[in-house]
Amino acid sequence: MINRYKHANIPVFIPHLGCPNQCVFCNQRTISGVERFQPEKLDGIIEDALATLGDRDAEIAFFGGSFTGIGYEYMCDLLERANRYIRDGRVVSIRVSTRPDYIDDKILEALVRYGVRTVELGIQSVSDRVLSASKRCHTFRDIERACASVNGAGLSLVGQMMIGLPSACADDEMDTARFIADAGASAARIYPTVVFRDTELMYMAESGEYIPLSLSDAVERSANALGILTSRGVEVIRIGLCSSENLRSDDTYFAGPNHPAIGELVEGELFFRLLRDKLRELSPSENSVVSVSVPRGAVSKAAGHGGINRKRLCDEFRISKMIFTESGALSGYSAAVEIRRI
Ligand code: SF4
Repeated sequence: MINRYKHANIPVFIPHLGCPNQCVFCNQRTISGVERFQPEKLDGIIEDALATLGDRDAEIAFFGGSFTGIGYEYMCDLLERANRYIRDGRVVSIRVSTRPDYIDDKILEALVRYGVRTVELGIQSVSDRVLSASKRCHTFRDIERACASVNGAGLSLVGQMMIGLPSACADDEMDTARFIADAGASAARIYPTVVFRDTELMYMAESGEYIPLSLSDAVERSANALGILTSRGVEVIRIGLCSSENLRSDDTYFAGPNHPAIGELVEGELFFRLLRDKLRELSPSENSVVSVSVPRGAVSKAAGHGGINRKRLCDEFRISKMIFTESGALSGYSAAVEIRRI
């Protein structure tokens, strides 16, 4: 199941800083909720976060833009300031997010030197058709090369991918999930595409050139990717953008699957498929009572949002009742199903 950071994350959002691109879906100021990064505030951000973390291991995370594209000297300056917290033992590591075409040997050498352990790459799609339609301004070859370079530098790779980009189909997204697993990523993030105001995607949606995914399609297609990644041992650490006022505001949100619990919906869909497959094998007789054991903390996901899985499965298999319990012997997306005849 989605396992948020094992240690505490200190996010430092750097919207659009140094990014000359304008991907059709991107309005980084909206997504991060930060209009402009003020470098002089870096120490304050870190100190404030450290004061609330207690004994947990802390990691400074430069998110929100294309960190390695901000200019080499400036990047090194921010990393040096973050590295001081590693040297004094208050922070264990640094992570950065960036684009595949902003990775080269010189940048990787600096990341390693300053204590970066993890690079999150905005892969988004492995289809050149989708990358082009999204105006990512790089190709799949750049993605392949960047993943190999990150691995070669001994850094942990996290793959970020999107669902429902312009011209993308479900097969493209499953290929992307497979590639992230093949590339040796330790973790992944799955982002269903949300249309923000003041983005090219908004104008594409207004003109009918782009049709935003419905919530149910986004959940189905995200569950496809989640299933592939988790079955290959890639930990999915996030599904959907972080909830914030900005994302729910009509001033910033235009269209698309922006449900505040979309991660739970996607995990619930994966449990639904698992339970449906198991029930098909077991073929319960009509009006059976079915016991379902799931990992600790997974009962609400397995039963589905508002009990939707329970209802769908009871209807499909004509069973009278499903009883969900937790089992410490199970983990991940797994379940033990037993039919109790009445
Ligand atoms: S590269 Fe990243 S920051 Fe730049 S426009 Fe694209 S998504 Fe936004």
